[in-house]
Amino acid sequence: MTRTTPPRPVDIAAVFPEIAPLARTATRLHPRPGTPGVHDSSIGGPLLWPSDEPWPVCGESHENGGDFTRLDVERRRRRILSAAWGRTRKGEQFAITPEERAELDRLDKEYADPDTPATMLAVAQLFMREVPDLVGPPGADVLQLLWCPRDHGPHYCPSPVLRWRRSADVTDVLAEQPEPDVMEYDTYLPVPCVLHPEQVVEYPYADFLPGDLEERIRTWEESSGYDYFSELSIADGWKVGGYAAWNLTDPYPMLCDDCGADMDLLVKVDSGEWDGAESWRPLEDAGPESEFHEHPNRSEPTQITIGRGYALWIFTCPVSFDHPHGVSMQ
Ligand SMILES: [Zn+2]
Ligand SMILES: [Zn+2]
Repeated sequence: MTRTTPPRPVDIAAVFPEIAPLARTATRLHPRPGTPGVHDSSIGGPLLWPSDEPWPVCGESHENGGDFTRLDVERRRRRILSAAWGRTRKGEQFAITPEERAELDRLDKEYADPDTPATMLAVAQLFMREVPDLVGPPGADVLQLLWCPRDHGPHYCPSPVLRWRRSADVTDVLAEQPEPDVMEYDTYLPVPCVLHPEQVVEYPYADFLPGDLEERIRTWEESSGYDYFSELSIADGWKVGGYAAWNLTDPYPMLCDDCGADMDLLVKVDSGEWDGAESWRPLEDAGPESEFHEHPNRSEPTQITIGRGYALWIFTCPVSFDHPHGVSMQ
């Protein structure tokens, strides 16, 4: 099923024509739980990985101060919760059986040893043919994103690794994909999702609007009731390309560590697909609502949470894809 972002409540370029040249496309990924294969674009799915290429292990330092969970324990916990919520009618009591409750209690007591190898975890695989705003090095047609599901400085979030490759080069696919035994928080394990990419139009974060445009938009917001930041500029949810938001820290320069160039936004890893205002909820997800609860929640299909419901913004250097990526949490 395709996913369609509702039209913006107002065409900002019709109200302020000088913003029109700043329009930029982004691709919303629209992840939804499914069973992706190695040849699919996915979040939390298997990667098309050559059998003779070492799987990455994190070399950064870890404080390991969090609430560690084993991946197999978390998967079992999610299966129990999904089943129980799936038979809970809205407005009625949580329909969990005594056996399920007992197993959840037992799983809560399972020990997770932080002192195990920091093997990277597959997070996303994006084929350029399906994600129009994905721009990579010459010859590459797929981006693979892995992360170490522990907290790292300075943002206290997972540390990502990017791999670009040409899918035709992978003739002998790694059969059994490695993964870490444990993660620092259970919100660092993505639910396997298939993607329904959709291109949308974005405008700059308000602080970067030229001249006095930001000020005039603020005045217009007061009289019109529209909200430029949350409704008209940058899309909610996982996306590739477009503009970056800076609503948590205010803007700071995102410069390449190697060459000092201003970096471009590559991908946003988001905690949810739309917020309570539902401006960014795709038309296809507006209904009909089931009489039962859904787990995972419709607006949080990947079950990834960054910080307190923020997003991880990953940037790349426009000079060379060999230069290190940058990360911001907003
Ligand atoms: Zn790490
Ligand atoms: Zn650079």
